[in-house]
Amino acid sequence: MSTSSPDPATPGQAYAAATAVVERLAARGFTTYFAGGCVRDMLLGRTPVDYDIATEALPDVVEGLFEGSITTGKSFGVVRVPMGGCEIEVATFRADHGYHDGRHPDQVTFSDAATDAQRRDFTINALFMDVQQDGRIIDYVDGQADLARRVVRCVGEPAARFAEDHLRLLRAVRFASVLEFDLDPATADAIRAGAASVTGVAAERVRDELTRTLTESARAGDALLCLKEVGLLEQLLPEVWAMHGTPQPPQFHPEGDVLVHTALMLNQMEHTSPRLAWSVLLHDVGKPPTMTDNTDRIRFNGHPEVGGDIAAQILRRLRFANDDIDFIVACVRGHMRTMSVPHMRRATLRRMVGAPTFPVELELHRLDCLGSHGDLTNYDILVAFEKAMANEPVLPPPWITGRDIMALGVPEGRQVGSWLREAYEAQLESRFPDRESLWAWLTGEIKG
Ligand code: ATP
Ligand code: MG
Repeated sequence: MSTSSPDPATPGQAYAAATAVVERLAARGFTTYFAGGCVRDMLLGRTPVDYDIATEALPDVVEGLFEGSITTGKSFGVVRVPMGGCEIEVATFRADHGYHDGRHPDQVTFSDAATDAQRRDFTINALFMDVQQDGRIIDYVDGQADLARRVVRCVGEPAARFAEDHLRLLRAVRFASVLEFDLDPATADAIRAGAASVTGVAAERVRDELTRTLTESARAGDALLCLKEVGLLEQLLPEVWAMHGTPQPPQFHPEGDVLVHTALMLNQMEHTSPRLAWSVLLHDVGKPPTMTDNTDRIRFNGHPEVGGDIAAQILRRLRFANDDIDFIVACVRGHMRTMSVPHMRRATLRRMVGAPTFPVELELHRLDCLGSHGDLTNYDILVAFEKAMANEPVLPPPWITGRDIMALGVPEGRQVGSWLREAYEAQLESRFPDRESLWAWLTGEIKG
C-alpha cells in the first residue's frame, strides 16, 4: 500500500548522482538547478526523498546527453535520467497553460527559471538551488521567507491556482501537516472557497494524498482536524466528518466527540503504517449512524459492524486494494472485541493473537484507550498473552483432519466440519496434552 516505490539508493548516492547530472548539463552551458521539494527539504534540514532538476536544456538535448534516458513526460518536458544507480528527474523550465480538466495543463511552453517558479504550487516548493555555486538559492517567490515563517502559501493568486489543479487543495494540507507549518490565511481561505472541487480529483490521488498526510505527519490528528477546518473532510469523507459533533458518554470518553477522540488517537500513533492509520481513522465511523440517546446513556449498538460496512464503502470508493480493504475492515469490525479480553476463552484469545491483523489491532486498541479513558488493562493482558505464546505456534496445525473424522464413520458433510471445529477448539484450549489423548476423547464422543 505504499504510494511510491522506495529508491534503493542512499540519500548520499542520490545527491551525488543529481549533482553529476547538473554538472554535465552546466558544462554545456545550460542553466541547471536543483528544484522544488529537495531544495525545501535541504533548507529545512530534512533529507530529501529525491532530487529533481530543472534546466534550460530542451528535453531532446537532455536525452542526447544521457544514455538510457526515459522520456515518459516529454510533452511536459520531463526526462528521467539514470545516473549512479538512481533515476533523476530532469524537467525543462516551462510555463503551463490552460487547465481544462482541473488537474493537468493543456499545453506547456519551455521558458526560463523565473517563469518555471510561477507554475509551481507553493512558494516553499518553488525554490531553486545552484549546486555549482555553493548551494546559492534562487528565489523568485519569497519562498525563503515563507520557510522561515513556516507557512504554506500559494505562488500567485490562491483561488486561481487551486482552480487550475484541484489536487493542490490536498497537497497544501499535506505539506502544512507534514512540515508542521501553518496555511497562509489567504491560501486557507481559497481552500475553503474551493473545497467542493476536490471531489473532481481521481480517487487514487485522493487516497495517496490522504494516506501520506496521515502517515507522514507527526500529528496526524491535527491533520484530520485541519482537513475538517478547511472543508475538505466533508467533501471527501462525509462519513468521517459526521463524527464531529457526535457526543459520547463522558464516563468512558472524557475527551469529547467522536472526531476529537479519533484525532487524539491519530496524534499518538507511533509505529504508523497506512493500514493502522486508516483503521484508526475509520474505527468509530459506525458511531454517528448508530447513536441512540433515549435510554440511561448514549449508546452505539452494533457500531463496529455498521462501521465495518461503511469503512468498506469508503475504501472501495478510494480504490484501495482488496487485501487492504479486508484488513482494515477486519480491524474496524473487531475493535470492540478487546472489551471482553479478561473473560475470553483461551481458544478465542489464540485466534485473535494469531490473526494477521493482530499487530495492528493491538496498536489500535492501545490508541483507543489512550485517546479516551487511558486504562490499558486489557492491552496489558493481550501483550502478556502474546509473550506467553512466544515459544509455541499461536495457531498450530490441527492435530485432527477431516479424513480422521470420516475414518470414525462420520459421513462427508457438515458434521465433519463441526467435529473438526470442536477438535481444534479443544486443541487450542490446551485441554489435552497431545494428539493421542485428544483422539481418544474424540473417538469416545463420536462413537458414543
Ligand atoms: P514530496 O515529494 O515530498 O511530495 P515535492 O515538493 O518533491 O514533495 P513532488 O510531487 O515530488 O513534490 O513535486 C516536485 C515539485 O514539482 C514540487 O516541489 C512543486 O514545485 C512541483 N509540483 C508538483 N506537483 C505540483 C502541482 N500539482 N502543482 C504545481 N506544482 C507542482
Ligand atoms: Mg518529490
